[in-house]
Amino acid sequence: MTATTLFDLFERLTSLMRVWNRQHPLLADLQPIQISALIYLSRCNRYSNTPLGVTDYLGLTKGTVSQSLKALEAKGLIVKARDARDKRSVHLQLTETARTLVETLLPPAFLSAGETRMGKRGPQLEALLGELLSEVQRCADVPSFGLCATCRFHQQVDGQPFCGLTQEPLTQSDAVLICREHQSPEVAT
Ligand code: SF4
Repeated sequence: MTATTLFDLFERLTSLMRVWNRQHPLLADLQPIQISALIYLSRCNRYSNTPLGVTDYLGLTKGTVSQSLKALEAKGLIVKARDARDKRSVHLQLTETARTLVETLLPPAFLSAGETRMGKRGPQLEALLGELLSEVQRCADVPSFGLCATCRFHQQVDGQPFCGLTQEPLTQSDAVLICREHQSPEVAT
């Protein structure tokens, strides 16, 4: 191999992210998987904030995720809430402490500083990476976990967002959250 490949670049950026997580004083007490679970739960909607949603998103085993969620609960960073309609189902909610932590940390300073130094090529790169992710997900047939506003089921009813899949009203803030049921408009048959 003679040139730096896309894979090399992702590997290096991922390593830097791990180093940043390890060195950050607010994250010293958390395992990488626990940080990823917290970030996911801060970004996902009410249909996706379940242990299975976290497991699917992180692509790890149920046992590994379950241990991490227990640790987050013990640290006071998440709480469990029974589903109002299905008592067997549990939703995971960030505590105020966790929400403040995630808001303080994201986006990582080194990453946003680098993007800022790229000028207008920063947003271009972001768009291209989004395109790459869509292509990979389409070919691999994996859940997209995309933004609600870009889903093929996302509708407007009486001027308000509405989910055509669950047949339930959504709020404006739901539109910018990610969802495990998300489907891109182009997969419609
Ligand atoms: S419109 Fe799509 S992304 Fe939004 S809640 Fe419904 S299924 Fe999920």
